[in-house]
Amino acid sequence: MVGEADAAELKQEERKFVRLPTFLERGFLDLKYGVIARRICCLCGTCAAFCDKINVQNGGGGEKEPRFIEEYDTVCGLCYAFCPRTFLPLSEIERRIFGEEWKRAEDGILGAYRSFYAVRSKREDIVKGAQDGGAVTSLLAYALDEGLIEPCVITTSEHWKPITKVARTYEDLKKGAGTKYTLYPSVLGVREAIKNGCEAIGFVGLPCQIQGVRKVQTAEQPYDVGITKVKLLIGLFCMENFTGALLDLVGERCGDRSLEGVRKFEIRDKDLLVYTEDREAKRRIPLEELKSYVGEGCLVCMDYTAELADISVGSVGSEQGWSTVFARTELGEGVVRGAVEKGYIEVMDLEKAGLESIRRLSKRKKKSGMQRST
Ligand SMILES: Cc1cc2nc3c(=O)[nH]c(=O)nc-3n(C[C@H](O)[C@H](O)[C@H](O)COP(=O)(O)OP(=O)(O)OC[C@H]3O[C@@H](n4cnc5c(N)ncnc54)[C@H](O)[C@@H]3O)c2cc1C
Repeated sequence: MVGEADAAELKQEERKFVRLPTFLERGFLDLKYGVIARRICCLCGTCAAFCDKINVQNGGGGEKEPRFIEEYDTVCGLCYAFCPRTFLPLSEIERRIFGEEWKRAEDGILGAYRSFYAVRSKREDIVKGAQDGGAVTSLLAYALDEGLIEPCVITTSEHWKPITKVARTYEDLKKGAGTKYTLYPSVLGVREAIKNGCEAIGFVGLPCQIQGVRKVQTAEQPYDVGITKVKLLIGLFCMENFTGALLDLVGERCGDRSLEGVRKFEIRDKDLLVYTEDREAKRRIPLEELKSYVGEGCLVCMDYTAELADISVGSVGSEQGWSTVFARTELGEGVVRGAVEKGYIEVMDLEKAGLESIRRLSKRKKKSGMQRST
């Protein structure tokens, strides 16, 4: 018989998990028709990362999409349960991550957070290759050096085509610095890290990818998929991402199809800027011209600031050469504070106008995502 104390403990334990009463009746076909065929897949890679029977391959239109690679669908339903586009029990996930006492800050536009800063790396070798202030790479370097994480799954690239890497050293981390503006199933790197026996995994990803990993962390599962090994999530702000065809267009415009000479991509105001060799010479492509390159699955997204991450990082809100950082969980705040104390990063207060810009963009994304998804 279960005593009162045991029952209370069981209840507490139960509350850690999101109940998904019907997921066992769903299979890959439901994901295929409910998400992939409806063109709302964000290509985060979560379904394939936690199921050996799913792979991300080229689909009919040439763009990548999740594919079932075995004949028989066992209808275990985890892919459907883990996908951030099937359903997102946000308040349940938030309660689990941020705790019972958590309250949405102000109107909830920026999600839950404990503190925010403008951050710049104090390591010149990181700043050199970084997208903004090198906050992401420096925070990861601190977490790795302190043993908080053992490897970190980052997204590096070859000729600007993204690829995931399980980074184990400072030098590995530096290779991941810089923004790659094309869709890629980065969560697949988490599978590789788990399969390699890593026990404390860090992951950097876009808001949809963080949502996918958080769903896996909080969903009730019939068997162990290794998710408890994922310890730290750093999310990137994201308004939208682009299909691989963007790289062909940039190659054409720059007269450099291999993109060998491109050093950095950046979206500023209404343009995509392409920096070549000396990081000064740049091409400017108006975002208006890139509308047809935006990933269709991005259009229904309502998360600009990676609201479910431990730490979120973006460029908007801070002056050039600095990153905007939101510490959301206790762990995230500890990492930011520790990195300051140990001299990895320096921090400044965010200007009010900077915070307002983030709020405005976040609101815009929620509004357009809502309109597209109804
Ligand atoms: C597709 C995309 C859209 C973005 N949109 C916005 C935006 O609208 N507003 C805004 O303020 N910021 C946006 N960002 C974030 C911004 O570009 C920087 O990544 C962020 O400011 C961190 O800069 P940093 O110098 O601290 O990072 P760095 O130290 O340079 O490290 C960058 C990290 O980002 C990871 N990364 C790079 N590309 C990808 C990718 N495609 N998928 C997953 N991880 C990746 C790398 O693994 C690396 O660890 C976007 C990023 C991406 C990838």
